[in-house]
Amino acid sequence: MPYLSRITLVAMCAIAQSVIAGGNADTIFYGGDVVTMNKAQPKAEAVAVQGGKIIKVGSLSQVKALQGKDTKLINLNGQTLMPGLVEPHVHIVGTAFSEEVWTNLSNFTLPHDTLDSLVKKLSDIGKGVKDGEWISAFGVDPSRTDPFMSELTADILDKVSTTKPIFVMNQSMHIAYVNHKALELAGLNDSSPDPKGGKLLKDSKGRLTGVVYEAPAFYLFLEKMSPPTQAVIEQAIAKVGQRLVSKGVTTSAEITVGAYLGVDKEYALLNGMAHNGMLPVRVRGYIYSNAFPASNTKYTPGQGDDIFKLIGVKIVADGSDQGLTGAMTKPYAYPAGTSNTGTLNFSEQELYSIAKPRFDEGWQLSVHSNGDRSIEQTLNVFEKLVKTPADAKERLRIEHFTVPTQAQIARAAKLGVVPGFTIGHTDYWGEAFHDHLLGPERANRIDAGASLIKKGMHFAYHSDSPVSPIHPLKYASEGASRLWQVTPQKVLNASEKVSINDALKAITIDAAYQLKMDDKIGSVEEGKYADFAIVDKNPMKTDAYKIRDIEVNETWVNGQRVFKKN
Ligand SMILES: [Zn+2]
Repeated sequence: MPYLSRITLVAMCAIAQSVIAGGNADTIFYGGDVVTMNKAQPKAEAVAVQGGKIIKVGSLSQVKALQGKDTKLINLNGQTLMPGLVEPHVHIVGTAFSEEVWTNLSNFTLPHDTLDSLVKKLSDIGKGVKDGEWISAFGVDPSRTDPFMSELTADILDKVSTTKPIFVMNQSMHIAYVNHKALELAGLNDSSPDPKGGKLLKDSKGRLTGVVYEAPAFYLFLEKMSPPTQAVIEQAIAKVGQRLVSKGVTTSAEITVGAYLGVDKEYALLNGMAHNGMLPVRVRGYIYSNAFPASNTKYTPGQGDDIFKLIGVKIVADGSDQGLTGAMTKPYAYPAGTSNTGTLNFSEQELYSIAKPRFDEGWQLSVHSNGDRSIEQTLNVFEKLVKTPADAKERLRIEHFTVPTQAQIARAAKLGVVPGFTIGHTDYWGEAFHDHLLGPERANRIDAGASLIKKGMHFAYHSDSPVSPIHPLKYASEGASRLWQVTPQKVLNASEKVSINDALKAITIDAAYQLKMDDKIGSVEEGKYADFAIVDKNPMKTDAYKIRDIEVNETWVNGQRVFKKN
């Protein structure tokens, strides 16, 4: 053997030994595609993990060099390893209440419900409810009801029961429907004033209709219900956790800490359950501004660890576009000739005075703005807050950012805003927006991914669960295909489609960026947490529309398997 080669060989052995001495891999994944979502190293053959972190991403031989006698070898057998998916806008407690504590009426399949089918379903639920207790349900949606925009009212709900109070939350979580018994128990009559930030809808004769808008109005009823026990709530949250990991999610966010049970209770619940494994994902928390403690000494931004950490404050600035309450510059297209432009929840000065102290304290702001009038107001406020280049790195969030104009996108880009799209708007509601509620021009602006990419912006997709179902691979499929669900299926503005790679970024690395965690998660990269989704097909090699059919077989957090499909 030539002298030089021998030297090289000796040196290589020394290096290999030092790596092994430095630590064998606990686990090695090989035998399938690795989609890293790391631009510098998009593909790899194998991945080594030690102590919950990724220590090597590379060729099979590079990774196998870290194999020790106790290393667990996971043969992917042709499955694909991806970074754990990131879902940055879930109401975890809200989903637990809406879908597990209350009865879930959500219908995301076809055909749509009718008022008769809803009355029948609610009557069936009512049979199991004792006198004096509430019939509570979630998930009706007039924009997905036949005939279009059929809405529950107190009169209709009285057909279900006049003796048991009924509370039904709209799918958007911005509207609720109650019967006359519920109005009576809440002490409301036709002369009752609207609660601040909420609305009690009245008919042309000034009578309460049983339709109410926004959380402050919901609380009038919710506070009359006996709260579920701690055990019931924990079980419900655990089910939401199982749903997250079954869809490949390894990091999520509770976007409104405190909205249901107050900040103290929800913080304790989520922090405890994330650490004891009942909620098996990492969680970042945003305190709901309406529940933010008046004299707060307990909570600080960044409090917690990578399992559960409080980082932001969430403000809800307008309503829901499919509920005709998102604040628009021009009137809705439905019903024809309406002057309704939706509802701003605050004046610009009010929004500024809520946002300013939290921004100064270092909380990441997350403002819900659906309509272009609300987006305008939020951008005005953000422009007052962002004074320095460092401020523009705060990754201010605008949630939904549903129908921005090009001028608004440009302003948002300048401010470093990281929008989050409820991309299911293009799918479940695409036809309703385009053909009925918004008209083509505005509907074509929905979730304008391609426009944002042209401006160099990061953005994330989310479910806003319980508003739409948790399923990140489906969001990526929706963003890259923009086909609506109702037949005949049509593409909602093909020019805003994004590539599969960009769509996957919005459920991995860019969603991590939105949560200020892109240095720790969101890609399969050395030094990051060993959070993975193992899926049955490589989404990079799948037709955009069919990415929604990819199965998640396993989910790993911190190098540990937390989900395996039966
Ligand atoms: Zn939300």
